[in-house]
Amino acid sequence: MSEEKTTSQEFKLDPDCELRFEVESKNEKVTLELKIGLAEVFGTELVKGKKYEFTAGAKVAVYTWQGCTVELVGKTDVSYVAKETPMGLYLNCHAAMERMREAAEKDDTRGPITMVVGPCDVGKSTLCRLLLNYAVRMGRRPVFVDLDVGQGHIAIPGTVGALLVERPSNVVEGFSQQAPLVFHFGHKTPSANIALYNLLVSRLAEVCSDRLQANKKARVSGIVINTCGWVKGGGYKLLTHAAQAFEVDAILVLDQERLYNELVRDIPDFVKVVFLPKSGGVVERSQTQRIEARDQGVREYFYGSRTPLYPHSFEVKWSEARLYKIGAPVLPASCMPLGMKAEDNLTKLVAVTPGPNLLHHLLSVSFADSPEDDVVQTNVAGFVCVTNVDVERQTFTVLSPQPRPLPNTVLLLSDIQFMDSH
Ligand code: ATP
Repeated sequence: MSEEKTTSQEFKLDPDCELRFEVESKNEKVTLELKIGLAEVFGTELVKGKKYEFTAGAKVAVYTWQGCTVELVGKTDVSYVAKETPMGLYLNCHAAMERMREAAEKDDTRGPITMVVGPCDVGKSTLCRLLLNYAVRMGRRPVFVDLDVGQGHIAIPGTVGALLVERPSNVVEGFSQQAPLVFHFGHKTPSANIALYNLLVSRLAEVCSDRLQANKKARVSGIVINTCGWVKGGGYKLLTHAAQAFEVDAILVLDQERLYNELVRDIPDFVKVVFLPKSGGVVERSQTQRIEARDQGVREYFYGSRTPLYPHSFEVKWSEARLYKIGAPVLPASCMPLGMKAEDNLTKLVAVTPGPNLLHHLLSVSFADSPEDDVVQTNVAGFVCVTNVDVERQTFTVLSPQPRPLPNTVLLLSDIQFMDSH
């Protein structure tokens, strides 16, 4: 293992090996280039001679089935070649899913619905990306569902969403985010509102099922679902609920035998539960790194990553915005109106009075036309961030991907904040 390398390094990789590297230092750039042979980054093939530029926070594995030579230019914090990887096992999963797709194609049924579970930092998102990339490379059009509200890869933190994957992920930027289906949750962990989380997961499953019905190619290709790393107690119940809601065919359990055994015990036999080891390359992230990754997700939503975006900033009158949050405090059952459960309060739309309390918060712009619609279960068009609140003039300023006016004025307040430092 080499530490603190500058300049250029060349690596000759044998078949079935991977080069792992990390870029930690701010403002540092590392360029990767495939010189000879074939290689892929999390399932996306590298183009020979093309320079891929990675910046701070990148943790990358360049894997080769056939052997290759790659070059890294710039200062990596860690770079080493690993001979032991679980890629063969991951490829077997892909092959099994592909067989199910072939059967689905023949019988005009639906393809595999696969959920990836495991504790934090075991490579769940990476395995999803790999399986999706292998599927699109075979000409499939799978749906990617991300239920990880903290470190998800669709839209911004505090949401759950689905994406039709039509091309392999970009080596540096991940999957293209064209027209994702996104629901507002508003917190960075499901534990903040379990009733709402389950409601949104059920809703997302319903909408995905409808979309598969309408699109044969997607239906045959199936769904790959990423989940949160909260796997104990309440978190475990969320996983079994999601498995039921999506009617999964297979659950891939990364790294934790205890979780695997619990699922084998509790999940009906027709669902395949498969244990898979985690890759030694998956990097554990500290709390600070997780916060940074969340911030980065929001920053990229507004400002783009490699391809820069130029967001707009404009004022919104308090009187123009219809602001809500989801979930009121739970009252004792004796205080609830007849026929309502105490839990119902957790999924209720509650009006929010604008004020300094909005500062730095993210707001989801709902597709719902009116608060009388089912706003909670309606997907969102996008997000704005409140960068200033003027109490005197009764306005707030938002950072928005689109110019004025807001496409809709039903706005949902998120717990998650973003400090715009641009
Ligand atoms: P979370 O609990 O936050 O949801 P996770 O289990 O989904 O995490 P990933 O996000 O897939 O884990 O992986 C964590 C980090 O490790 C990512 O930055 C990813 O790029 C990196 N990583 C994954 N696999 C490898 C590998 N084989 N070599 C090097 N880095 C890797």
